[in-house]
Amino acid sequence: MATTPLLTVRNLKKHFPVKKGMFGKTVGHVKAVDDISFYVNHGETLGIVGESGCGKSTTGRVLMRLLEPTAGDIQFDGKDLTSLSAEEMRKTRRDIQMVFQDPYASLNPRHTIGKILEEPLIVHGMSDSIERKKKVQDFLEVVGLHAFHAKRYPHQFSGGQRQRIGIARALMTNPKLIIADEPVSALDVSIQAQVLNLMQDLQKEFNLTYIFIAHDLGVVRHISDRVGVMYLGKLVEIAPSEQLYEKPMHPYTQALLSAVPVPDPDFHKERLLIEGDMPDPAAPPLGCAFHTRCPYKMEICTTDIPQLIEQHTGHSVACHLYGSQGDNDIKQMEGSL
Ligand code: SF4
Repeated sequence: MATTPLLTVRNLKKHFPVKKGMFGKTVGHVKAVDDISFYVNHGETLGIVGESGCGKSTTGRVLMRLLEPTAGDIQFDGKDLTSLSAEEMRKTRRDIQMVFQDPYASLNPRHTIGKILEEPLIVHGMSDSIERKKKVQDFLEVVGLHAFHAKRYPHQFSGGQRQRIGIARALMTNPKLIIADEPVSALDVSIQAQVLNLMQDLQKEFNLTYIFIAHDLGVVRHISDRVGVMYLGKLVEIAPSEQLYEKPMHPYTQALLSAVPVPDPDFHKERLLIEGDMPDPAAPPLGCAFHTRCPYKMEICTTDIPQLIEQHTGHSVACHLYGSQGDNDIKQMEGSL
């Protein structure tokens, strides 16, 4: 494994203006992605998890520059993506592909699967149509379909098959990084496992790196090497998968995990319930954005934004319960008992 990460993201922000009135005056901003930093190593899978509206899908789109970042730095495979021209970025997209949640919505219903899969090859300059058709047939088989499926239309496939087509389309340009945005959320549980297994097999076969976005910690558990948890535009915890699931540190991660069903009926885990709804992203709470729902809220949480601080090797958390200030508070509390 190379030592330099394939992708390094620093202080990434995506703010959307909130406009009001006849003249569309900007009255505020929704901080959909608010100053997040992370990296993804070659060949690994980083899961990004959080409730809907936390900014995880926006992050995926900003990385592809389908949305322009408000600020921040995206280094991918030795290139600074934020400084590339539109044309340079178009060429770079052959190395970064996306798989979407709803394959049906992302496949043109009037085109055959063959045409859909050939399109990225045409865009990226493969002019030989025989070569293109051969590649389409090969990749249909790689994802567990058949060469003759190239003549069919999207509506002739099941949800799971359509997601296989979505994955084949992402693979057509031999990408290095695939950003999968809720790729199995629309599928039945039994089909989810098949698609996840396929993605894992393809990762080994083609040496792929994945960013796997999901709202459910259960789904990303087995596919991810590391997992980052987002809340209201911020990364609140990031850790190697095993550590995050065994010893979650952030109260929000603990609550998300306690909502994941456990298959063993004899295992009774303590449930940490979070109260209330996600706050309005256009008017997030001051201090820690989670303080309105956190059972461990302290005074400092309502005023100071906790920074993401590494607590153990590779395990960082943004919470005043840990780190220097939180430590002092806890020590003071212990001392006063
Ligand atoms: Fe809860 Fe405070 Fe930690 Fe935020 S910083 S998660 S409010 S304890």
